[in-house]
Amino acid sequence: MNELVVHTSTHSYNIYIDEQIRYQISKFIANDYSSIFIISDDQVAPLYLDDIMTGIETERIFHTVIPSGEASKNIDQYYRLQTIAMEKKLDRRSLIIALGGGVVGDLAGFVAATFMRGIDYIQVPTTILAHDSSVGGKVAINHELGKNMIGNFYPPKAVIYDVNTLKTLPDHEIRSGYAELIKEAFIANAEFLQQLLPLTLATISNDQLKDHLFQGVKIKADIVEKDEKELNIRKFLNFGHTLAHALEAELGYGKITHGEAVAIGMLFALKISEHKYNKSLYYDQLLNWLQGNNYPLSLFHTGIDQLINAMKLDKKAQYQQIQMVLLSSIGKPVVVNLTDDELHSYLQSFKKE
Ligand code: NAD
Ligand code: MG
Repeated sequence: MNELVVHTSTHSYNIYIDEQIRYQISKFIANDYSSIFIISDDQVAPLYLDDIMTGIETERIFHTVIPSGEASKNIDQYYRLQTIAMEKKLDRRSLIIALGGGVVGDLAGFVAATFMRGIDYIQVPTTILAHDSSVGGKVAINHELGKNMIGNFYPPKAVIYDVNTLKTLPDHEIRSGYAELIKEAFIANAEFLQQLLPLTLATISNDQLKDHLFQGVKIKADIVEKDEKELNIRKFLNFGHTLAHALEAELGYGKITHGEAVAIGMLFALKISEHKYNKSLYYDQLLNWLQGNNYPLSLFHTGIDQLINAMKLDKKAQYQQIQMVLLSSIGKPVVVNLTDDELHSYLQSFKKE
């Protein structure tokens, strides 16, 4: 089993990554919780809900599902979950379990963060992308005016990751998760990048998955331990995200996955980095890898001005000034301010390629 400890300002928690570990959740849960409330989505629950309840003995165990997809990370679902928690008489000594991808994790985590001013929760991630969302303690729901605008920093009590659950993911979700893993390699670990670049996603083994998730989680954990509230180096995790967020907003959420948008954003950031620092930073290698693994790579029909405007609306832009994470070398990210004119010309040449 791969195991990792994350230290936060309030407590430490463990991340366990293994095969078939979903049948052993009961071993990781303290036995003095007054009740347990499992939140999942309607695609994940039929596959894994029964499995994770194996061995949990309390009679006070409840569960519910949300419709799968980003649209469920909303105030109505949040309110419905709080209502169930109250109807089932959860109290301060209750535990919430989030079983699913980042949508379930963010929503269930925010319910836990705010129910009676905060109760324990654990993350049982079932997507590759959720190696990112389940670690670091950010929990949130969306507002009509912006994604993740209502939320908190509220770390879980544990993260229990069963790589066997990832076998049922559709290909585009595998691509989505691996884009974030490759992002972590680019910003922090050149050796990990060398392992990932020859990889064919269609043939990854469980051992590779375990190893890659472990390395990705470790990079993320190291960063959030040093900067929990994103005041400085946590921003590096936004490598590829400035354009990605704009693209997702312009295309409408759901057209491509988050990670697929990040893949395009990383190419763009690498293009600018190679130009600014006048050296190879693996743009060509990343492009080959993404093409070989069937990532959708065009900027579609989005206009450049719309993309720049969308970048300014991103909540990480400060005072309408667009900041991007670039690389000065592999494993050495830098945050750089870019003017509209610079962005315009970079986007124009990027779009032509
Ligand atoms: P998701 O939770 O929507 O899952 C993707 C799809 O896969 C869904 O349709 C889901 O039902 C399905 N699915 C999940 N597990 C499955 C399995 N094992 N087998 C088959 N199908 C399965 O999306 P995601 O990509 O996991 O997460 C995206 C969300 O995560 C976004 O809302 C994003 O804002 C959030 N996020 C949060 C953080 C953070 O730090 N909190 C970081 C990154 C992303
Ligand atoms: Mg991301």
